[in-house]
Amino acid sequence: MVGGIIRLLLALVGCVVLLGGVPAHAQKGVAGAPLAVCVLRDTGGMDPAALIRAPGRRFDCASEQYRLGPGNYWVISQEIDRFSDPHLPLNVRIASLWQDALTLHILYADGAVVSQTTDSRGIAPLIQLGAIAEQPIPARQAKVVRLLWHVQGATNLRGVLLGARLSTAAESAHANLTMSALYAGFAGLAIALIIYNLALWGALRHRFQLYYCLMVALLLAYTFSTSGALAWAWPEIANNTRLRTNFLLLGGTGTAALVFARSFFEERIFAGWLGRYATVVGCATSGVGLFYFLTAPFAIGLVDAAFTCAFVALSAAVFPLLWRAWRLRSNYLWLFAFAWGAPILTAALRALANLHLIRWSFWIDNSTILAMMIEAVVSSLAVAYRIRLLRDERDDAIEREVMMRRLADTDPLTGLLNRRAFLQQAIGRADEQLLLIIDLDHFKRVNETLGHDGGDEVLRVFARMLRTSVPQGTLVARIGGEEFAILTPIAAPVEAEAVLARLRQMRMPFDIQVTASIGTCRGMLSSEVEWKALYRIADAALFDAKSAGRDRVRNALREAA
Ligand code: GH3
Ligand code: MG
Ligand code: MG
Repeated sequence: MVGGIIRLLLALVGCVVLLGGVPAHAQKGVAGAPLAVCVLRDTGGMDPAALIRAPGRRFDCASEQYRLGPGNYWVISQEIDRFSDPHLPLNVRIASLWQDALTLHILYADGAVVSQTTDSRGIAPLIQLGAIAEQPIPARQAKVVRLLWHVQGATNLRGVLLGARLSTAAESAHANLTMSALYAGFAGLAIALIIYNLALWGALRHRFQLYYCLMVALLLAYTFSTSGALAWAWPEIANNTRLRTNFLLLGGTGTAALVFARSFFEERIFAGWLGRYATVVGCATSGVGLFYFLTAPFAIGLVDAAFTCAFVALSAAVFPLLWRAWRLRSNYLWLFAFAWGAPILTAALRALANLHLIRWSFWIDNSTILAMMIEAVVSSLAVAYRIRLLRDERDDAIEREVMMRRLADTDPLTGLLNRRAFLQQAIGRADEQLLLIIDLDHFKRVNETLGHDGGDEVLRVFARMLRTSVPQGTLVARIGGEEFAILTPIAAPVEAEAVLARLRQMRMPFDIQVTASIGTCRGMLSSEVEWKALYRIADAALFDAKSAGRDRVRNALREAA
């Protein structure tokens, strides 16, 4: 147990180091120098060339963009004053947001204005890893003065144009490389977790393992879409379709996480209202995601808010869940608390950002993946831990069964085989057997002399002698009150005379002398019928020994047929 906890802590430290290290390093994923921008609602009839040459004071640089509502916008950048030369071309990068079309106008110091417009796919062809749209600024002998974007059909839920940056080609390449390392590491981990848990499922067949795989697979698909890799893999896709897909897959991931949690915990944890709440929230999360996927941008503000609410409600379920797990002493409480800490934090951050209580940031936008990765890794440890508990339960059950069987087979007083177990093991032996039936002499008298407990002790001492003096593989049983049986193959017989001689020399309680009589017989023992015949003859021989004065052996002359 202690070893397990240490391993778990090491893994967690590993995660923290990994995730703490990645953002600091991958900050380069947000490449280049930030560009301040100001916005102006497009009321029609404006000439871009005139606007970029003389923006005047019409642009709003103070308001939060999202407050201005949906529609068409002009967005102007700050002064740039840099060359984009063929050897060191400049790129302009912006965050991916919902819009129908985007035109970029570039004003150079020589007075030229160069324009680039997106097609029906929107900014999808410009998407780089991290879902950043990047456009090259054509090289020219004159410096770049400023940029003007025309954004059509902005839903403007978070902003019209966010995260604008100017980067060199080298910075862009480096950002893509860093982001691809991050995403590839994530994807490798996710794929390994899926394969490992599917393989485990093959062996153990617990339903929660499948739900776990589904959750990680959906998270992987979400990452593929939200990172922008989907636009690389499928060049025809429109960026807005990719954004819709994000919602569908994120909603599905949330629901799968809830279903996994529900099947992972003991049934009692989700009993009653929490179970009903989980069902409603689980359906709402993927339901709203699906609705968004199918209908966006229809009522997009409302649907987006509903999606945020569904995720807040989903995250909120963790608190009663942990409370119940603690109160009902669930085995999985701490692992789950660890696993869900990070996703809850990022879900809360995202919700706050969506409600405009904190500012939008590239890292908040991408934090879900990192947090869910912690969740997936710790949950994989939780799965392993749960399997370990199941193994312990199984081992206990096997041990109990072995013990029960041993108890059922043994005579409680002497620890020898009882009659039933003796017969079970005796009948069916292949070769010829020698049977000894041993009966202690005048045992009633022994009881009268020593009392019943003393008699018991004599039986125990005698049984121990029998057990320790016979060769391996010999069956020794107590088949009646003071009657014992020994069965050996004829090839390795137990000498009946030797048994009596040893008994005569034994020290008994109060030094009383105890003797026995033995009847023996040899024969086959392949069936119940043969056993009965053999026993009858050996018993008759025993009777002869008793009649002849006891403390002696009689071998049946005739072999049992
Ligand atoms: P014999 O030499 O003819 O065998 O005489 P015996 O007295 O040994 O034979 P009998 O069969 O008449 O009596 C057996 C006695 O063994 C009767 C019973 O009280 C005693 N006995 C049977 N089982 C136990 C037991 O578990 N513990 C004790 N202390 N005595 C037992
Ligand atoms: Mg007796
Ligand atoms: Mg007897």
